[in-house]
Amino acid sequence: MKSVFKRGMSSWLSKMIVVALPIVVALPLTANAADLKDGAAYWKYTGFSNTKIAAMPWWEDSSISGLGYTTILSDARYAWDAVTVANIGYSKQISSADASLRFYAVNDVGLNYYGVLKPYDSLGNQMSDADIDNPSKTIYKANLVIANYNVQHSALGRALTRAETLDVAIHEIGHSLALRHQDDSSVSVMEETDMTTYGGPTTLDKNNLAWKY
Ligand SMILES: [Zn+2]
Repeated sequence: MKSVFKRGMSSWLSKMIVVALPIVVALPLTANAADLKDGAAYWKYTGFSNTKIAAMPWWEDSSISGLGYTTILSDARYAWDAVTVANIGYSKQISSADASLRFYAVNDVGLNYYGVLKPYDSLGNQMSDADIDNPSKTIYKANLVIANYNVQHSALGRALTRAETLDVAIHEIGHSLALRHQDDSSVSVMEETDMTTYGGPTTLDKNNLAWKY
C-alpha cells in the first residue's frame, strides 16, 4: 500500500497517520535493495544494554487497561520475546520508577500518530531525532504511547483492526530495541508509514536482531 503521511516532531519515532491511496503494490519476494541490515538497521545512539534487553523491566499505566490495550501489548511484547535468534525478554514491574519501558494510552484528538516511542536521557530530557542518531547520546528510559483516538478514527476511515493495532505496538516496541525505520518497500514491522499486519518480526527484522542481541 502506498501512502502519504504527515511528519510530526518525532518523525523517526512514531507510527505516522497515513492516508491510504487505492494503489496496490506487490511486495517483493526477494531481497530488497532498500533493506537496512545489521548495524544500518539501528539508531546510532547507545541503546539499552543487552542485559537490559534480555529482561526489559516494564510497567504499564492504568490507561492501558482503561482503554483496552492490555492484551494487544502483551501480545506485542511476546512477539519480540519469541524471537529465538535473539535474547529479548520482558520483566513486569509494579512501580514505574523501576521500569525502563513504560506504556501509556491516551485519547487525545489532534495527534499525528497511532503510537510513539519517546526516549529520555538520564537527565529526564526527551531525546530529539538528532540525539537518537548521535553516538555520544545514551537512552535511559522510554515511554510508549498508544493514541487511542487515532486508532479508533484512523486515516483509513475506520477503526484500525486488532491485527493493525498489534503491528503498531510491535513497531513501537521495536524502536525500544533501537531499531530505526525501514523503507516501506521492505518487509519489516519497522516500515515507516505502511499499515502492516505481520503479527511479529519478519525475516529481515529477525536477522537484524540476531546481529545485535
Ligand atoms: Zn516508527
